[in-house]
Amino acid sequence: MKYISTRGNAPELSFEEAMLTGLARDGGLYVPESIPTLSAEEIAGLAGKSYEEAAFVVMRPFVGDAFTDEEFKGIIARAYANFRHDARAPLVQLAPNHYLLELFHGPTLAFKDFAMQLIGQLFQFSLARRNERVTIVGATSGDTGSAAIEAFRGLDNVDVFILFPHGRVSDIQRKQMTTPEDANVHALALDGDFDDCQAKLKDMFNDFDFRDGVKLAGVNSINWARVLAQVVYYFTSAVSLGAPYRKVSFTVPTGNFGDIFAGYIAKKMGLPIDRLVIATNQNDILHRTMETGAYTKEGVTPSISPSMDIQVSSNFERALFDAYGRDGGAVAQLMEELKDGSFAISQGAMETLREHFDSGRASEEETNATIASAFTATSEVLCPHSAVGVKVANAYLGEVPMVTLATAHPAKFPDAVEAAMGARPALPPHMADMMDKDERVTRVPNDLGALEALIKERIAQR
Ligand SMILES: *Cc1c(COP(=O)(O)O)cnc(C)c1O
Repeated sequence: MKYISTRGNAPELSFEEAMLTGLARDGGLYVPESIPTLSAEEIAGLAGKSYEEAAFVVMRPFVGDAFTDEEFKGIIARAYANFRHDARAPLVQLAPNHYLLELFHGPTLAFKDFAMQLIGQLFQFSLARRNERVTIVGATSGDTGSAAIEAFRGLDNVDVFILFPHGRVSDIQRKQMTTPEDANVHALALDGDFDDCQAKLKDMFNDFDFRDGVKLAGVNSINWARVLAQVVYYFTSAVSLGAPYRKVSFTVPTGNFGDIFAGYIAKKMGLPIDRLVIATNQNDILHRTMETGAYTKEGVTPSISPSMDIQVSSNFERALFDAYGRDGGAVAQLMEELKDGSFAISQGAMETLREHFDSGRASEEETNATIASAFTATSEVLCPHSAVGVKVANAYLGEVPMVTLATAHPAKFPDAVEAAMGARPALPPHMADMMDKDERVTRVPNDLGALEALIKERIAQR
């Protein structure tokens, strides 16, 4: 299996190379040159299998000869061993034809653990075999950072630097990033918003001297291996609701378009997905794009679902690449236009996008009301991101079963949940002491040179 860039101007890579590289050298994102499919029999065969067994079947065709079957099974087993639910991604019922996929039973209580724990094990295996070191730099709106730190802390061949927007993540999210004591973990609070963090990260990748000098690796949702890990739970949940013999729809709380893009890949692989609904909060660039065909950046307005406070949705580039008939030149052109704040999507490409995706938006008031009403109706406590999903999904309920992805545990956002429903969700017992631990964090300016200097200095000290 070969991987190609969405901008058509970077070397083709293997799965392992694409995983270790992250962003392509032409600024694009790696995608498989073709999408393998599973037959209806193979999909039906996932019924009754463990999450790990299903993960092997779904991901195997994408990794090529990077690992033997036994090696890959071992990597998957270690990745999900720290989850606190035997089903890994359990499905609960909210209403007659509406289900919630609980993706928050991993070590940092958010769905990002599904991808990050796998990536940690993949990196460890590959780097040890190659006898190489890398520097991982990640930008986070809150949950990616802690998930990355949890996945890479203490590993010999990796330093992990996480950039988060100073003052814009929840206390628990910050504590999860600043309290690990491992010497290879570096939490950096940047003076700016998440889009600034993401922009600095891209700038570092485009500074080839720096990139090669520190052996920069990316684990943001632009990393293909992360998207791939997330494809699995679309299969496991759909199969438990009757796929491949019955269609299933999904609503996905969306920021960087990674999680929902994984659903699109599942559909391309042959899973009978009816609707894929993009759910945004008030930072609704994706919803506006689906309505108008114009992708136009506006400022980010902080919300109670901070992990979706995003205006530049990186993985949307992968969907555009397909919608433009895999024309890398066309995508590169759009991304050039975006430097001035906006691009218009061609009519043909919009038709393709609308064939696969619906969209909706939830205001802050609607999100609060949904947390309260879901608790009254079902006793389920939703985090604000999951509530955005449930609110948007409610408009799409019908004959086809709807699965809404619950992307974080409510206890990660206790203030927002308490304000909405009057009770404060408790952290699981194994994390209860986190709020009292000492923090280790470096405040950094929104300046590329200063950041690069700091990272080089820290690596030299190790
Ligand atoms: C990251 C995140 C999202 C958005 O996921 P994308 O893959 O970026 O679309 C939604 N909810 C939570 C809790 C998250 O951490």
